[in-house]
Amino acid sequence: MPNSLPTLSVYRGRFAPSPTGPLHFGSLVTAVGSYLEAKSRRGEWLLRIEDLDPAREIPGASTAILNTLVTLGMEWDGEVLYQSRRNEAYRAAFEALEKQRMLYPCICSRKEIADSTIVGMDGPVYSGTCRARSVPIEDSAAWRVRTDNYPVEFTDALQSRIQQHLRADIGDFVLRRADGIFAYQLAVVVDDAEQCVTHVVRGADLLNSTSRQIYLQRLLGYSTPTYMHLPVVVNAVGEKLSKQTRAMPVDSSDPMPQLIMAIRFLGQTPPKELIKSSVASFWKWALENWKPETIPRKKCEFADIAYGVNTQARRQLLC
Ligand code: GLU
Repeated sequence: MPNSLPTLSVYRGRFAPSPTGPLHFGSLVTAVGSYLEAKSRRGEWLLRIEDLDPAREIPGASTAILNTLVTLGMEWDGEVLYQSRRNEAYRAAFEALEKQRMLYPCICSRKEIADSTIVGMDGPVYSGTCRARSVPIEDSAAWRVRTDNYPVEFTDALQSRIQQHLRADIGDFVLRRADGIFAYQLAVVVDDAEQCVTHVVRGADLLNSTSRQIYLQRLLGYSTPTYMHLPVVVNAVGEKLSKQTRAMPVDSSDPMPQLIMAIRFLGQTPPKELIKSSVASFWKWALENWKPETIPRKKCEFADIAYGVNTQARRQLLC
């Protein structure tokens, strides 16, 4: 008897680029890794444009990213979610936390915060000056969430067991900036829950953010997805590829060399002749041969983008 029941997807992944520029090799690696993890398990792969902060957005970048993904054969499931249209959802989560008395306004200047003598896992740890004082609620205050020192732990699929004590390692962190924009940490948690994401695959530059996100998920009563943090692509001087480090945009007119480089970066071993095949044959091979167990278990990895090869000697020096 044919099975007429719809198959329920138990894997929901996502790719969540910020439109601060066109897709470059670093973001391509994250897209390819998250896509292959989802599709090799017959899961869904959702797309979210993280355009929370208009000042950081480059006009046309969102459309350029979408077009590049389509040219590269990475079709997403469902509608694209744009964070710029989600303010009401972020506000509702913010108010829920406020009701729990987990938030407080903070009027410390950037300088006061940067001068903190305690340096944690992600820069200066906010000492909690405003936690104890009564700050008049004014529009120009940032809002922080109270943290505690209970360990937040999770097992990353590549980076092993991670534990943070948020109060000591990070400090109370901002959920709404002084200019009224909701912070990435809040938006990502609300959106992953809204999109029912079960598996987050992203760059290891966000590994230190994950405990903050798990903490917020618990406060908001959301479930916690599983996490896999892929090695971040760094250039010859050890910088993450980005618009600021002048990473070259992915060339949509010649996708194969870049797709091949991306899966090689992810520890896969495509046959030489694959470079001459079509994008569709590339994905067929990649899906049939995807081995997540061979992805390098590192936080960063050098890739020589100009020549298309990884050089062992430099790789060891940098990561
Ligand atoms: N928008 C972030 C970026 O482009 C990714 C956030 C995430 O995957 O959680 O780096």
